[in-house]
Amino acid sequence: KVNLRKQMRIFVQGTDVPDLVENFNQLEEKFGVHSICVKNLTERFGFSALSPIQMQAIPAMLDGREILACAPTGSGKTLAFLVPVVSHLLNVKKTKKGKNIRALILSPTRELAEQTFSECKKLIRSENDEENEKIHKDLLNIRLMDKNLVKSFTEKKKQTCDIDLLISTPNRIIHLIKQETPILKLDSIEWLVVDESDKLFEDGKEDASFRDQLGRIYSACENPKIRRAMFSATFAHDVQQWCVLNMDNVLQVTVGGKNT
Ligand code: ADP
Ligand code: MG
Repeated sequence: KVNLRKQMRIFVQGTDVPDLVENFNQLEEKFGVHSICVKNLTERFGFSALSPIQMQAIPAMLDGREILACAPTGSGKTLAFLVPVVSHLLNVKKTKKGKNIRALILSPTRELAEQTFSECKKLIRSENDEENEKIHKDLLNIRLMDKNLVKSFTEKKKQTCDIDLLISTPNRIIHLIKQETPILKLDSIEWLVVDESDKLFEDGKEDASFRDQLGRIYSACENPKIRRAMFSATFAHDVQQWCVLNMDNVLQVTVGGKNT
C-alpha cells in the first residue's frame, strides 16, 4: 500500500489513513459504490483506471473522513468527490422522511457549477428507464442552483425542499440564507464539498470575499454530524492551517508536488 502510494505520488498526512481503492472492481465490491456509478465510470466516461486523487479521496470520504485534497488541474478531482458523496446519498438512508438538502457542493463560478452538475448526472444515469426513475425520483434529486431555482425559492419563500444534492456558487446560497427568515435551510447537510478551495483565502474583488461567504455558509450548516471536504489544485498554507484547526481529524491528501 505504501509502495503504491509512492508510485502514484500520493502523499498523506493524518492518522488512520484509509486504504486506497485500486480499481473499479474494488470500488463496487469492497467499497460498496453503486453499480451504476461504476458502470458509468468505465463505460460512459470510458475510464480505464482511477486517478491517484480518486484512489485515496474516495475511500477516505466513504469512510466519513474530512479531507483536504490537493491535486493538479485535470487530475479528476470532480469525480473524486462526486463518487463518495453520491454513494453516501444512495447508501445511507435519510434520517427522517426529510425534505432538506443533504449535500452541498460549492463551486467558485457558475460555469464550474454547471460542469460539475452535468458530470454528476452522467455518473448516475442509467440506460434502464425503470432504474433511472428509481434513482432519480426516490433516491437522488440533484439540482443546480441556477437562476430559475433561485427564483422559485425566492417566490415561494419555501423553507424546505426535496433536494438531495445541490450544486451552487457561494453567492447564490448566501443570497438565500441572509434573509431574516432564511429561505434556504442548510441544517441537514451531511456533506459539504468546497471545490477550488484555494480561492477561499484569496481576497475577493467583489464586496465579500469567498472566505467570508464560506464562513457564513458554515455557520448555517448546523448539523453536528456534517462532514466537509476541500479540493484544490494548489497547496495553500493558510487553507491547510484552517483545515487542521477547524476540521475533525482532517486527512490531507496531496498528489504530485506540493506546488503543481
Ligand atoms: P480537476 O478538477 O482535477 O481539474 P476534472 O475533474 O475536471 O479535473 O477532470 C478532468 C478530466 O479528466 C475530465 O474530462 C474527466 O472526465 C477526466 N477524468 C476524471 N477521472 C478520470 C480517470 N480516472 N481516468 C481518465 N480520465 C478521467
Ligand atoms: Mg476541478
